[in-house]
Amino acid sequence: MEHVLHLKCLICGQEYQPDAVAYVCPEHGNEGILDVVYDYGRIAATISPASLATNRETSIWRYKPLLPVAPDTAVPPLAVGWTPLYKADRLAGDLGLQHVWVKDDGRNPTASFKDRASAIAVVKANEVSGEQVSSVKSPRHLVTLPPCHLVTPSPAHPLTITTASTGNAAAALAGLCASVGQPNVIFVPKSAPEAKVAQLLAFGATVLLVEGTYDDAFDLCLQAAAEFGWYNRNTGYNPYMTEGKKTVSYEIAEQLGWQAPDVVFVSVGDGCIIGGVHKGFMDLLALGWIEQMPRLIGVQAAGSNYLAEAWANGEDVLTKTPIKAETVADSISAGLPRDRLKAMTAVTRTNGAFVTVADEEILAAIPALARGCGVFAEPAGAAAYAGLVKAAREGLLQPTDRIVVINTGSGLKDVAAAMKAVQGVGVRPYAIQPKLADVEAVLKPGE
Ligand SMILES: *Cc1c(COP(=O)(O)O)cnc(C)c1O
Ligand SMILES: [Zn+2]
Repeated sequence: MEHVLHLKCLICGQEYQPDAVAYVCPEHGNEGILDVVYDYGRIAATISPASLATNRETSIWRYKPLLPVAPDTAVPPLAVGWTPLYKADRLAGDLGLQHVWVKDDGRNPTASFKDRASAIAVVKANEVSGEQVSSVKSPRHLVTLPPCHLVTPSPAHPLTITTASTGNAAAALAGLCASVGQPNVIFVPKSAPEAKVAQLLAFGATVLLVEGTYDDAFDLCLQAAAEFGWYNRNTGYNPYMTEGKKTVSYEIAEQLGWQAPDVVFVSVGDGCIIGGVHKGFMDLLALGWIEQMPRLIGVQAAGSNYLAEAWANGEDVLTKTPIKAETVADSISAGLPRDRLKAMTAVTRTNGAFVTVADEEILAAIPALARGCGVFAEPAGAAAYAGLVKAAREGLLQPTDRIVVINTGSGLKDVAAAMKAVQGVGVRPYAIQPKLADVEAVLKPGE
């Protein structure tokens, strides 16, 4: 990995060799999130827009020289990334805008954006598994999994991976692990939507439904990972998750012919995605493949607005206390956003903004987005579009701005919320007998 120079603490700026630290800056503990710093000169010698134009790999791995993995590393087989970018002219027109695209990351293998990060987690876990297994410090290090665990750990992949999640990061990790037969232990809040839990169980993860919030599950997972020696995929802790997430920006730029958009809307919970979006565009600027940094607009639920509040009030996110998060958009419910440093930097350095949307606006955005461009989003995905609607209404955008909205998760992830959303706009199915007359009655009411 000669193209990775070092890992740099976001708080103190201390630089570490990748094998010298596990996850965070030893000086700053859980808050000491690390940024992966690259040698762009070396990268530019192996990849370029011209080489990509003839590259037939249609996944995040088309950008492998820009990722923190060795060139010959084996990668999991699931096709992560290279999701479609749709021009959404009707949506744009309705908002008085000219150029709106929707990047549909619900099209990933486990139906959310999180696959981008989990693919990297599986690769990094395998990199360290050799070292860790040979330096076992206590017998608990290789704790065996309970019998409910369906995936037989293959000898080549002995290290268990763990994460806490509101659901999607977990489903993504479980799916990516299943694709290579790697054991995994998942901590989710008991309230996680059923579809996400079903995915976990189907993929054979060991699922721990925590009686508590995502924040409780996160803290417990960190403790368990340290105690049992598991590889830790947690968002806003493992420095490599941002690196997987940044691939969305490469794709957007490439799909737009290496012309960066003016504005990107993305929903924000922990802040890892928006931090990744920022990192991706920064990489491209450093390489000289794009000429401008888009303004990044972070969209938060009104009931989970830690970052929006900190940004509006100029509060320091290192000292701001957690809030009590509650929103219909479970994927962006975070009382203490774990990647808040990167998220805040993404918005402030790009002259962006945080926008908050109420749960009713989020729910209304589900059918609006689905009808306006054919993309069915879960609440957290639709929230980004709700943010665009609000920003347009509040005059934060120019009609000529080239705008990308990222849908981060499929609507099938949370059918209960989708049903609530369609009821909210007053649509319902018509219950009929299997008779043509009943069809006619529906089509011509009142006759
Ligand atoms: C995780 C997630 C988000 C938010 O990402 P953060 O990195 O937590 O800010 C948004 N939408 C969906 C569907 C997600 O799964
Ligand atoms: Zn530090």
